[in-house]
Amino acid sequence: SQALLEVRDLHVRYPIRGGLWGGQVGEVKAVSGVSFSLNPGESLAVVGESGCGKSTLGNAILGLTRPTEGEVLFEGEPLSATTTTERRALAAKMQVVWQDPVSALDPKMTVGQSLAEPLEAQGRLTAAQIRARVAELLTMVGLHPDHAARRPHEFSGGQRQRLVIGRALAAEPKLLVLDEPVSALDVSIRSQILNLLLDLQKRLGLAYLFISHDLSVVRHFADRVAVMYLGKIVESGPAQTLFAAPRHPYSQALLSAVPLPQAGARARRSRILLTGDLPSPANPPAGCVFSTRCPIAEPGCSLSMPPLVQGAGGTALACHLRAPQ
Ligand code: SF4
Ligand code: MG
Repeated sequence: SQALLEVRDLHVRYPIRGGLWGGQVGEVKAVSGVSFSLNPGESLAVVGESGCGKSTLGNAILGLTRPTEGEVLFEGEPLSATTTTERRALAAKMQVVWQDPVSALDPKMTVGQSLAEPLEAQGRLTAAQIRARVAELLTMVGLHPDHAARRPHEFSGGQRQRLVIGRALAAEPKLLVLDEPVSALDVSIRSQILNLLLDLQKRLGLAYLFISHDLSVVRHFADRVAVMYLGKIVESGPAQTLFAAPRHPYSQALLSAVPLPQAGARARRSRILLTGDLPSPANPPAGCVFSTRCPIAEPGCSLSMPPLVQGAGGTALACHLRAPQ
């Protein structure tokens, strides 16, 4: 079967301008050679610290950022080769939910108007059909059809994120890009929104690209995980494998900060603290991108970037000293 989404050797670089004449004085390598594919109904979590390029990757997939090199294919069609009309049709199949539900909704519009907007843009439904669909969407995300007459400020943060999810689903997308969808919400309501997303995925067969800095959020959510560091995927694999036995020193450090599910488990992990800051993507380290913070780095690590080597069972690892499992 064909992949829903395929990302091939994607690079996104931004020029840094400065100096007396405002010329280009450098380059930020936000995404450097990322490849993966996502099947219909599957969820892939892209995990890493802020600044690792995961949001830029999401934006490039959504067509909001133009890749410098490489290709994004949706249902086998390269995004770069589509016409404006085709791109609009594709955009309906890929929707995004950002972190902040407050700025995502127009305060002047009623909730009904916000949810109707993507349907009106499609121009396929009558006014009565749109009203019925809006009522259905509100129910689908755990709200009430009567809520259509209200304005965003009448809702809590969690309810607003439900509205944003409802609007994203209006045009029946196949893929949702979820960029830190619960990070701005109270801890107490995060699991409600995550459960809603899981439920919707099952019911509608959606594929999710779930972008997060928080591995504890990803644990019960993703089929597969890709760990990003300074614009590169350094490890990927099935979520269960990666959580049970991470191989990359960076994945191990990230995971060591996540509390174990069984409190007081005998196999208590010790916390691996990384020293030093995340290097600037405008000035990445020579050789392995992780070499300046890696607890097991050897001098040879700064000579070349290790390639992402495929292992058995769908894993992949980029480290000179370790083999994928
Ligand atoms: Fe650490 Fe070297 Fe492996 Fe990079 S290649 S992760 S620096 S051990
Ligand atoms: Mg971000």
